[in-house]
Amino acid sequence: MLLLLRFDSKTVREPIISMTSIKTGTPINILKADVGARRGEIIVEVPEERAKEVEKILIEMEVEVQEITKTIARNDNCVHCGLCISICPTEVFRLNGENKVEMKTEKCIHCGACIKVCPTMALYFPI
Ligand code: SF4
Ligand code: SF4
Repeated sequence: MLLLLRFDSKTVREPIISMTSIKTGTPINILKADVGARRGEIIVEVPEERAKEVEKILIEMEVEVQEITKTIARNDNCVHCGLCISICPTEVFRLNGENKVEMKTEKCIHCGACIKVCPTMALYFPI
């Protein structure tokens, strides 16, 4: 399961992810981190069966936790240029036999790289 963690000016200075990993005995995989001196947003991957326990500990340590349930989406603007294929680290996109770009959205780790390069603004994260 993917979790979006939001840290404030206090929690961003604590080693909260490693403490949570040790306390719960759960491997926590950091997929994306945007961390500054006063705030931070980190996307982590945790095993589905441990997610509730991990969430509970994080909330106890005053981290805002949001489960990521919606993955990358595409609108009709796509012109199948293929730029997203080369940038995606998890091979969400592939070219099919008709030169159309197909998506396997379950592989998306929410890095946002494809959204930045798409020339037609076809890719987005649903709200
Ligand atoms: S980069 Fe955008 S326009 Fe190009 S194939 Fe990907 S989604 Fe379509
Ligand atoms: S957000 Fe990142 S992982 Fe998800 S499809 Fe785009 S490039 Fe791939």
